[in-house]
Amino acid sequence: MSAPVYEKVALIGLGLIASSMFWAIKRGGLAGEVTGFAKSAESRETARRIGLCDTVCDSVADAVEGADLIVLCVPVGAMDSVAAEIAPALKQGATVTDVGSVKRSVIDAVAPHLPDGVHFVPAHPLAGTEHSGPESGFAELFDNRWCLLVPVEGSDPAAVAKLRLFWEGIGANVDEMAADHHDLVLAVTSHAPHLIAYTMVGVADDLRRVTDSEVIKYSAAGFRDFTRIAASDPTMWRDVFLNNKDATLEILGRFTEELFALQRAIRTGDGEHLHDYFSRTRAIRRGIIEAGQDTAAPNFGREGGSR
Ligand code: NAP
Repeated sequence: MSAPVYEKVALIGLGLIASSMFWAIKRGGLAGEVTGFAKSAESRETARRIGLCDTVCDSVADAVEGADLIVLCVPVGAMDSVAAEIAPALKQGATVTDVGSVKRSVIDAVAPHLPDGVHFVPAHPLAGTEHSGPESGFAELFDNRWCLLVPVEGSDPAAVAKLRLFWEGIGANVDEMAADHHDLVLAVTSHAPHLIAYTMVGVADDLRRVTDSEVIKYSAAGFRDFTRIAASDPTMWRDVFLNNKDATLEILGRFTEELFALQRAIRTGDGEHLHDYFSRTRAIRRGIIEAGQDTAAPNFGREGGSR
């Protein structure tokens, strides 16, 4: 247990990310008090029942009142209206941050609402699961994962340093990145792969030659991992694509070109092209394991699983 980094933290939105943050904040003793707010009465009731947050407030203004750190944990498309709602209730000297998966559009949506004397330090923890809602969180979600801080022009270095300390206390490794670069990197590493998974699962669903039961029964071979990704929250992912349009379209354009090249190699029997390509991609997987971002155990360490 360390000394609290912030006296009072307000979590706005009480889903996977906020609930995981709360349990990690408690584990690390990072805040004197944590308040929370979610849009629906149902989520607020669930939060109260499971002890998520010291106080769950019925208005967003009550939740942020007197808070030293306000974390916007709502879907990217809701950041604008939430920022507008909290603005009049913010304390002078407070820091507002967010956890949105896209950074440029969140900055454009939030920054104009914030009064002078309030710091804004956008962030994005690179960790998640396909689950959502107040009951889906767990303290270990961010352990040894990256959290990217995306300071804006004029971000106070002391406010940035404090937020870094907070995320390190939550268990993450922290880096700083510029917003546009963040959006391009995430389009490659997360957004385009999600779209591809959604597509593949959609294709299997449409393919009537393979019956539904066969898709489910034999889903061990790679497809199962696509279904896990494709089960991610529809609202969150709709907002990600609508708000990271340019970068995602650029990556999907490149993806389509490479897919055509591989398609052609299969058609023309160009085994060398396929082998070279797969050797290159295999090396990337090794790099991820060496960087400690995944397990080297077969089948992601699942017990008794086949490939
Ligand atoms: P989630 O589990 O679906 O939770 C979203 C929460 O936001 C819910 O509690 C919801 O309230 C609340 N909310 C929605 N609109 C609101 C509004 N206008 N005012 C107040 N609360 C509102 O989502 P999540 O996975 O935690 O994602 C939250 C943010 O983290 C998103 O911006 C996402 O891009 C980002 N992120 C997600 C992941 C991931 O893998 N899931 C990873 C990194 C970052 P109700 O329950 O009442 O609807």
